[in-house]
Amino acid sequence: MRRLLVTGGAGFLGANFVRYWGARYRDDVVVVLDALTYAGDRSRLSDLEAEGRVVFVVGDVCDGELVSSLLTQYDIDTIVHFAAESHVDRSIVDGVSFVRTNVLGTQTMVDAARAAWCTNGAWRPGVRFHHVSTDEVYGPLAHDAAPFTETSPYRPSSPYSASKAASDHLVRAGGITHGLPYTISHCANNFGPFQHPEKLIPLMITRALRGEPLTIYGDGQQRREWLSVHEHCVALDAILGTDVAGETFCIGSGVEFVNLELVQHLCDMLDARFTADVSLRDRFPRCPAALGASCRTLITHVADRPGHDRRYALDSTKLARITGVTLRRDVSAELEGLLDWMMTGGA
Ligand code: NAD
Repeated sequence: MRRLLVTGGAGFLGANFVRYWGARYRDDVVVVLDALTYAGDRSRLSDLEAEGRVVFVVGDVCDGELVSSLLTQYDIDTIVHFAAESHVDRSIVDGVSFVRTNVLGTQTMVDAARAAWCTNGAWRPGVRFHHVSTDEVYGPLAHDAAPFTETSPYRPSSPYSASKAASDHLVRAGGITHGLPYTISHCANNFGPFQHPEKLIPLMITRALRGEPLTIYGDGQQRREWLSVHEHCVALDAILGTDVAGETFCIGSGVEFVNLELVQHLCDMLDARFTADVSLRDRFPRCPAALGASCRTLITHVADRPGHDRRYALDSTKLARITGVTLRRDVSAELEGLLDWMMTGGA
């Protein structure tokens, strides 16, 4: 039985992880620490809270006293650190809040873990600090280059990815300097339930259903690797379940989409649904597909984002080799599942 502190558990990934974990490990103790910024939504976990299966604490990862008290009060042995400012566009406008939460917050978490778990240089057996990082720390990848691995150099392009890179270094430094039993994972772009509609996939689906422009940065030829959030949780479970302190893992699907093609694909999926089910016309009357046109007609190109990386991709060979996990790669089927969720009021 484990006792987890999950930071950012009301966010997109954190909430999916807490729900995954709660379904799989019913006897584990799960404490969520979340500041409930614009990106957090406590109702994502309200059923688990009501059943007494999750303890929800509203608070800031930069508050060392609070984090220390939670580690002690709930006798935490596993920290899964998701909390972050996570939207690149926002980091271009306001980098300071990214440095505060992602850098200062991570160092605060590391220090609190050390204070709780390390006595006279000896670490309590079985504890783990897992830090959730991103593929974006590696910067842009050439279209014909091999995917990034765990040893690829860091070349972050945005204030967001630079702050995540700094947080990774601080966690590793905690391991090298103090012996912190950490793991770090870099994941590809996720999609799934509860994702904030500022992110590409939910943004495009929401706008298409409302008949609003589907704005694509630049030529739309940026390429991203996509993984369902459920498969990300499967990978994190495998990492936490393996005795691999001090290791870093890349979590990818091998499924890459050019942004424009991804949006076109979403439009085609929506068009097909309106053809198959005429009742959708009444529910989403402003969607072009309700009027017999294609959602593709909404696609509009706008000026590119500054510092916009052309491609990210990750090599998950190490993850499969060391943890034995195999991730599902049927992204199209998982996108259909997301559409089901969003079109039946989940969003
Ligand atoms: P999100 O923005 O949806 O959620 C972040 C959560 O952290 C929110 O609930 C927010 O309230 C909380 N939070 C923010 N500042 C806080 C603070 N100071 N103290 C406590 N809580 C705070 O983000 P996400 O998409 O769920 O991403 C979670 C983590 O996964 C991030 O570290 C991100 O870098 C990483 N990641 C995300 C993706 C992706 O595709 N979404 C991919 C790879 C890595």
